[in-house]
Order: sequence, then structure tokens, then C-alpha cells
Amino acid sequence: MLEPAARYTGYTAYDYLEAGKDYREFTYAEQVGRVPAYQGLDLTREQAERATRLLADSMVISLHEHVQVFPADMTDLREHIRQGREPTGYAGLARSGLTAVFDNGMDGTCCISSDAGWKYQDVLFDLGVRMADLAHQDFVVKAETVADIEDAQATGRVAHIFALEAATPIENEIDRLDVLYGFGVRQMGIAYSEANLLGSGLKERGDGGLTYLGDRAVERMNKLGIAIDISHSGDRTGLDVIRKSRTPVFITHAGARSVWPTNRMKDDETIRACAERGGVIGIEAAPHTTLSPEHPKHSLESVMDHFKYCVDLVGIEHVSFGPDTLFGDHVGLHDAFAANLSLGQAHGGVEFEKVPYVDGLENPAEGFHNIIGWLVSHGYSDDEITAVVGGNTLRVLKEVWV
Ligand SMILES: [Zn+2]
Repeated sequence: MLEPAARYTGYTAYDYLEAGKDYREFTYAEQVGRVPAYQGLDLTREQAERATRLLADSMVISLHEHVQVFPADMTDLREHIRQGREPTGYAGLARSGLTAVFDNGMDGTCCISSDAGWKYQDVLFDLGVRMADLAHQDFVVKAETVADIEDAQATGRVAHIFALEAATPIENEIDRLDVLYGFGVRQMGIAYSEANLLGSGLKERGDGGLTYLGDRAVERMNKLGIAIDISHSGDRTGLDVIRKSRTPVFITHAGARSVWPTNRMKDDETIRACAERGGVIGIEAAPHTTLSPEHPKHSLESVMDHFKYCVDLVGIEHVSFGPDTLFGDHVGLHDAFAANLSLGQAHGGVEFEKVPYVDGLENPAEGFHNIIGWLVSHGYSDDEITAVVGGNTLRVLKEVWV
């Protein structure tokens, strides 16, 4: 378990530059073993072997992550972010079993030139720098098509797909969607937690739905072949997007509000509408999001309570996973960026017990090992498991990407 992929040669981010001369170096968090391995799965040897085989043989696609590594000491965080040079966690990805991953980069913490974030030039800088690094190795490959993902699976590589949680950086410039597509962005949200010119976000008091500019943005994303994500949209905006889009829409990282009653979760109407149009919901696992009354201390078990609920609501062919993990102290990141990430409004006054990390889903290296282990131990068939860890997502991508 957790052996590195044969293709991985040991490259670390920005190896082609000189640390200390070309960029300021920080001490980074461990990509493997930062927290103890999950002990919550009690698999027989036969089950463990089956889980290992399923992880190795299936097309495993994470609908939502941030695969960069954060500073070991989170007091370095703002300085680190100012530099705009986040390191991809190659060593961790080599142990993840992932075939493909939607990476949202700096995203809500993209504060290179502005503490408010989301500036177009900063987002382009983030994407460009990360891509320059990817181009200097051959294990994590930039992916833009279904063929790229299939090629990564056939050759033992990881397909890396850029995504953005909001279209906020386009401001009122629809053509910027083309520019972002040109940079490799293949999945994008409408609004982040706060409203923008396209529509409303989950933190706002009111939601006027998709604007006329939002209509045009959805049309353009459909024409370009950018998958649309309504995870952070307000309820009405999200439903408008599902109706407006010619192709299925993703909820890449959320849970069910019927299980945990916060704005950050989706109501049944939205999850149903998404599924009826052929879409998929990826179950979220960022700290203190997908809690449940049965498992109020956030862990793999609470996350799977949302999985079970969504499967019962819309069928297993419309559910997948977008764990939203990273390498480093995610809770520390939330503490430092609570305002940027609108965490107060997202929790909406619902009390919860704080944990230092989500046991079983702490980082991109361990996530799908434990998800598949849980599915095996709970009696899901091979076909059901391959569908929820990637097959369902691939089906939608074949419809959406042109
Ligand atoms: Zn998010």
C-alpha cells in the first residue's frame, strides 16, 4: 500500500530552477505520513487485496482537489502565497492511485497581488507557473481531453486537469473564457461563495439567479467544452445553470443539506435536477463540511453518510467523489483564510466539533485508497465501485468536452 507508481522518477516541483536564487524556498509539509494512517477500515486480507486491485485497475478520477503542497509552518502562508509559486505534490500523487485529477490551484486563496483574491492576472500567473513546472517532468501530465485521460491510464501516469471554482476572474469579459480554456481550464464554477456578475454564491442573503451575462457565460462554456460546476452557487443560480446548460452539470464537491443543514451542502431539489439532466455530484471532504448527525466528528464515515444519502436519492450512476484535499494543514489554511473562503456564512451558525484533520480523507495520496476500502467493506460490487470512483465522471466528460 502507498507504493509510488513505477513511472514516478522522484521529480519535485521546480527542480529545473535554483531554489533561493530563482525563487524563495519554504519548508513544505510532508506529502505522505503527515498524519497517522486511517485505522477505521477493518478489511479481511481478501477485501484488502480486492481494494488494491480495484484502485490499480480502475479509472479513478477525482472531481475536485488542490494537489499542491503547503508550508509546514502555516505562519509562512501569506508570504508563500504572495510568491504565486505553489508546488505540485508529485510524490504524494505518485502514491494516490489516481488516473486523473481536477486541480483547482490557488483558487479562493489566489492572493498574489490582492488580499481579496480572484484577480484575472493572478489566476493566469498561477496556471502558467504550475504548467511550466508540469512541462519539466513526465509523470503528472497536463490533460485536456478524454483521450489524454485514457492515455494516462494506459501509460501509468496521472492526468492533471485544471479547474477553477468560479468564473469571477472573467469580470464582464466573456472572451476570457476562451483564454482560460486555451490555458487548459476544462471545468469552472459560476460564482464562488460571493455573488459576481454571472450569478449568486452560497453565502449571499438573496439569490437573483443567473444574470444575462451568466446566460452568455454558460452558452460560451458549452460551446468551448468547459464542464460547469455549481458547488459554490446559490440555490437558484445553480438550478438556473442546470436548466440553461445544453450539457450535464457537475456538483464537483458538496454534500446533502438533508444530512447536514448548511449552505455549503446542496438541497434535494438541486441534486435531483442535476441528476435528471445527466449530471454527477462529487462528495466533498474538506474539513468541517460534510458532517453528519451519526458522525459529527468529521471523518471518512461522515463523508460516506452523504454518499449513501445521495445514492438513495438519485441513483449510484449520479454520484462520485471530489474530496477537495491538499498536502498540508487544511484546517490551518481555513483558519488563515476564513474571510476569503466565507467559512462563517458557509457554516451558517450550525455548531460542530472542530477536528485537526479529516481522518481517512486528509490528503490526495490516501483519499481513494480509503474510499475504495470503505466501498469494498460495505458490500458494493466491482461495477458499482468503478462507476463511482471515475466511470460516472468519464460518462459526463464525454458529453461535455467537445
Ligand atoms: Zn470549494
